[in-house]
Amino acid sequence: MPTSRPDPSPEDRRRRATAGEGRAKKQAEKTSDLEIEFAAVKPAEADEVETDAYELTEGDFVEEGDLEAELIEDSDIDDVEDVEAKPSKPEPPQLPPRQLVLIGAGHTHLQILKWWQWHSFYRTELTIVTAFDQAAYSGMLPSTLAGLYQPDDMLIDMPKLCQQCGVRLIVDRANRLDPENRVIEFAHQPALSFDVASINIGSVPAAEPLWQSHRILISVKPLSTFLQRFDVRFRELVEQWKMAPGPEMLQIVVVGAGAAGVELALCLEQHKHELELPADVRIVDGNPVVLQDYSPKTIRRIEKLLKLRGIDLSLGSPVVDCDDEGVGTLVLESGERIRADLVIWAAGASPPMALRGFDLPKTDRGFLATRPTLQTTADVPIFVTGDAADIESHPIPKAGVYAVRQAPVLWRNLQNCLEDRPLVRFKPQSDFLRILSCGDGTAVLEFKGFTSHSSWAWALKKWIDLGWVRKFQVR
Ligand SMILES: Cc1cc2nc3c(=O)[nH]c(=O)nc-3n(C[C@H](O)[C@H](O)[C@H](O)COP(=O)(O)OP(=O)(O)OC[C@H]3O[C@@H](n4cnc5c(N)ncnc54)[C@H](O)[C@@H]3O)c2cc1C
Repeated sequence: MPTSRPDPSPEDRRRRATAGEGRAKKQAEKTSDLEIEFAAVKPAEADEVETDAYELTEGDFVEEGDLEAELIEDSDIDDVEDVEAKPSKPEPPQLPPRQLVLIGAGHTHLQILKWWQWHSFYRTELTIVTAFDQAAYSGMLPSTLAGLYQPDDMLIDMPKLCQQCGVRLIVDRANRLDPENRVIEFAHQPALSFDVASINIGSVPAAEPLWQSHRILISVKPLSTFLQRFDVRFRELVEQWKMAPGPEMLQIVVVGAGAAGVELALCLEQHKHELELPADVRIVDGNPVVLQDYSPKTIRRIEKLLKLRGIDLSLGSPVVDCDDEGVGTLVLESGERIRADLVIWAAGASPPMALRGFDLPKTDRGFLATRPTLQTTADVPIFVTGDAADIESHPIPKAGVYAVRQAPVLWRNLQNCLEDRPLVRFKPQSDFLRILSCGDGTAVLEFKGFTSHSSWAWALKKWIDLGWVRKFQVR
């Protein structure tokens, strides 16, 4: 891991910018390893360059360690000093720095910050805007609920990370984006102008008006505040039960039978087990099956496990209403009513409200319409990654793994856009490794038709998740 270093001085920045040419050459060599092809096209056709880079595993692409190694290679720096030693060359006139703004501390942008630490762009200042001063890693959330991690293990301290990477941080919610005038407006802070921007603000669970308006419904998003919100409601329930323990079991419901919902239900069941709490855990979903896009073998394995752990399923009818006056109740479309003391809302992925204020083209689903180069379909220098993007002609699942894999393409395209060079395309892989934590030190793994429920699958998940999040944690 790189150690903490102070913000680069203007002199350092200038040197690094000059040294950029040497690095760019090496970077291009590295790029060809990744099979990203640059074609000699005119800037107007910039979005049409094909890349095949992402038929790789997560660990295969450029790591910040590699970039660091490149940066400190003496040859680049020596070249710069040799040039500077010649007294006759006049300094070029100083141009103002270009403003690059990242909106949202999603998976893709976190990686951009780390690369910036070692490879900042020539004559460019980087700002990141994020709604919270801590970013949370969703992959570790269910296991944290089960007590397998401490809350801090899944959190990233944004002020520390930005300080380490030499990036300006604005902690506020971006509410409006005016692409024509290149201005971002916030909930509280003054507006900010940009030359190039990128949006990575994720998604929220479906039926936002419903989960926003009921006390017993706890949405998994925003992730950064989930643990606090969950804790308040959970403690309230435990206290109530301790004061007047009755024969009735507490009813904990997870809405959503996708990967997140199933993982949360298994981990919550483990949690109540450890607290010796008399609670039932149930999953509710409008879909008729759990884990709809998983293989039949994995689905059978999970169904068996849920049964074994006493987690009930209410499938085939979506929740349409909630009554939290007195005894909490969920109302299903079928008319069935389900008692619920605590509801975790983890159903589907919808566009965040903020996107309504971003004056950019949207798809039917309300996400930002995005080209394969990760640029918005509007002709403006704005990029979109992760869940917030709907890539035209390449629909991909809303999963963190894709947001991570978009980072090298975004990194290159931000630079190319600033330098008026052709953009490269993101070509998503067709399948990815999926591992669901069961909360008890085992996990269910699915990859290319292979399924395993084992403790080694959990060990692998833990290794991948900790390896990823620790890159961004500055202690
Ligand atoms: C419980 C759970 C477990 C999951 N496990 C996995 C898994 O194991 N593997 C996997 O691939 N996927 C998993 N997912 C899905 C994954 O979380 C999402 O696909 C992923 O988070 C999307 O990443 P992103 O980079 O688009 O944005 P996010 O990681 O969601 O980040 C968005 C960021 O933008 C900030 N933000 C939001 N709005 C604004 C605004 N208006 N202004 C400024 N900042 C803003 C947020 O605070 C946040 O920091 C899981 C989801 C959940 C809920």
